[in-house]
Amino acid sequence: MAKATIRDIDVKDKRCFCRVDFNVPMKDGRITDDSRIRAALPTIEYLAARGAKVILASHLGRPKGKVVPELRLDAVALRLSELLGMKVIKLNDCVGPEVSVYVSGMSPGSVVLLENVRFYPGEEKNDPDFARDMASLADIFVNDAFGAAHRAHASTAGIAAYIPAYAGLLMEKEVEALGRLLENPERPFTAVIGGAKVSDKLAVLKNLLDRVDNLLIGGGMANTFLMAQGHAVGKSLAEPSMVDEARAILEKASLGGKKVLLPVDVVVARSPEAGVPASVVEAGEIPDDMMALDIGPGARKEYVSAVRSSKTVFWNGPLGVFEVEPFRGGTLEMAAALAGVTGFTVVGGGDSLSAIEMSGLRDKIDHLSTGGGASLEFLEGRELPGVSVLIERN
Ligand code: ADP
Ligand code: MG
Repeated sequence: MAKATIRDIDVKDKRCFCRVDFNVPMKDGRITDDSRIRAALPTIEYLAARGAKVILASHLGRPKGKVVPELRLDAVALRLSELLGMKVIKLNDCVGPEVSVYVSGMSPGSVVLLENVRFYPGEEKNDPDFARDMASLADIFVNDAFGAAHRAHASTAGIAAYIPAYAGLLMEKEVEALGRLLENPERPFTAVIGGAKVSDKLAVLKNLLDRVDNLLIGGGMANTFLMAQGHAVGKSLAEPSMVDEARAILEKASLGGKKVLLPVDVVVARSPEAGVPASVVEAGEIPDDMMALDIGPGARKEYVSAVRSSKTVFWNGPLGVFEVEPFRGGTLEMAAALAGVTGFTVVGGGDSLSAIEMSGLRDKIDHLSTGGGASLEFLEGRELPGVSVLIERN
């Protein structure tokens, strides 16, 4: 990576302001999935083991600049303590005299967690005063919050104006894995794009189209592409306002000699509910009163074979309503196909990662991107503010 990381410097006795992404899903005050906390452990352990004083900061949810008691980070600190096997104190602020006093008493190798940074209105506004106050706590800034790197906030970008900024290990891993897709991917390179809507993924579709050999389209967004081909899609989720964009993508692909696969058949039902009768129809024959809720067996065969013969595969977006049993077949077959690829495989997106978990094949995928929106923006070819601010390695 062109950016300097914590492995490039001596962190001993240094106060490290480490921005992590602990934006975990919570229900009734309990963490329902701690993957994001686990993903940050390598950096925290690396810094602590080398005698740094680790000051962690994260956001949780959308408190919009106010203290929202349910969005305090206490439960996160508890879980982090368990995972690290070390007591992690959580402070009730991010800046101010109490925080400064606590930090100045920290011993090397200890870890403290600040309060939810988004309790401060200065965070999302990227207020320089708030950024400077946070910077004054530390000698260096470590950004390990890849998932928040597409935001120019005080704790993800602004703070780097005051202290030198380095990538954490998760940040490094994400930028390297996703960068490998953009720079010289081994070919054939196949992108599998599904999920709900074309409008969510238009920019990434366009950027990837220039780079891939094959583009496989599934999920709800496939319906908009089927409309662009002149098919009726019944009651399926589709975006008529995106049909022209979809048609432009198909035309560009054919001019560029790219292979774009749309489902030749689909699984239809009256509604996306468990227990409803489902059947398979050809893509051009979706009944008026039905919804296309998964790719059909013919499409799966084609998609799986395209993926199997690829050397690089990126997948974002489930191919059907995988949350509901009769409509998860296409998504699970795709997970199995990716698991069997000998080349380099990357999966990104919150629902896509849930689908990979469901398949039990997480260990067979080379990189599971924790980034969500940040991963997509990266693949759109955009500079992420939280990455740009890191100092260059020299
Ligand atoms: P990710 O979180 O991986 O980026 P998205 O959020 O874009 O993925 O899309 C996931 C959602 O798309 C899932 O909730 C899934 O039910 C929905 N979806 C997939 N296929 C269809 C379809 N044919 N019709 C309606 N919704 C679909
Ligand atoms: Mg999603």
